[in-house]
Amino acid sequence: MGLIVLPKTIKKIALLGATGSIGRSTLDIVARFPERYQVVAMGGGKNVHELIVLARRFQPQLLAVQEESGARELTQALVDSGLSIPVMVGQPGAVAVATFAQADVVIAAMVGAVGLEPTYAALMAGKDVALANKESMVMAGRLLNQVAASTGATILPLDSEHSAIWQALNGESGKGVEKLILTASGGPFRDFSLAEMASVTPAQAMRHPRWDMGPKITIDSATMMNKALEIIEARWLFDMDPEKIEVLVHPQSIVHSLVEYVDGSVLAQLGLPDMRLPIAYALGYPERLALDLPKLDLAALGQLEFFQADAQRFPALRLVRQALAAGDSGAIAFNAANEVAVERFRQGEIGFLEIAETVENVLNNVVREDFSTLKEILDYDAKVRQLTEAKVQRHRG
Ligand code: MG
Repeated sequence: MGLIVLPKTIKKIALLGATGSIGRSTLDIVARFPERYQVVAMGGGKNVHELIVLARRFQPQLLAVQEESGARELTQALVDSGLSIPVMVGQPGAVAVATFAQADVVIAAMVGAVGLEPTYAALMAGKDVALANKESMVMAGRLLNQVAASTGATILPLDSEHSAIWQALNGESGKGVEKLILTASGGPFRDFSLAEMASVTPAQAMRHPRWDMGPKITIDSATMMNKALEIIEARWLFDMDPEKIEVLVHPQSIVHSLVEYVDGSVLAQLGLPDMRLPIAYALGYPERLALDLPKLDLAALGQLEFFQADAQRFPALRLVRQALAAGDSGAIAFNAANEVAVERFRQGEIGFLEIAETVENVLNNVVREDFSTLKEILDYDAKVRQLTEAKVQRHRG
């Protein structure tokens, strides 16, 4: 008597941000489970050489790159390898990947506000979106939730903290939940005084103690702006009153976040700091994938530490409350001003502490406004970027 083996359907993935840290981790999971996952469309940024390698290896049916010159280089490299894969450029390319007809799930792992349009397009097309691009949720959480509800798409958290909360909630929600507690490593300047932070360089801010991430999110971790953005992200992902979302500093990055229930029980998710865990959880859900990775050894670790977050030294944690009180415009301004300021800091034009100062300065000018369309959100985002650039210029001049 033979076993009847049902043909397993392969989950088809559209991957945005393929050459970044999340993209590489996603492709590692795909490569481990070729019988379960296949990449059908892939978008990358400026790292064309990496994208050429990935395109040859995973052979998607559509590629997208940021720039025209990159597209030419990529197309030629594919022809040289005997591959014929269409290559698209810029935001239209990213949107084409996000809405690729054969894709079942979109991994949104672009960095920054440019991730919003493709995420929106994917949800409009009814695709499930595994979201690492927290900026899109920060800017447009209300709208994205509405779109997902109307098309039947699901937004799956990929951020390690939000994956932890998703797992610790385990289907519970609403009245039973007392609060969400997001853990933060505290970044490289966890123990720095404000005076010490005043003179840190972009190179110092790039040395994250626990996670290997791209430059934008690494600097956001150093200012704790990353955690501030994650509060807004959690608010929309879990439909939670922001007052009930707290931050706890945990330098070892083993407890990825916690949920406290009304009865006083606290559930947490633990694991080694490896983005492949939350990615595998989102891709496999509701099943868990058997990952052959180093396992957490608590006895070897010995102890885990927790500290109160310090909003004096990390003003992002205070400013996010101001942003939340200022509605959609507050959250969009908070994110946009930060993106501009981080870029200026990376260019050596402003100091480390001026990142938060710039954000505060911009936030103080925000008038509360809520938005119901993508265009309104993008227009407001552009307006804030201009204002921020002008403020940085005036400050320097
Ligand atoms: Mg995170």
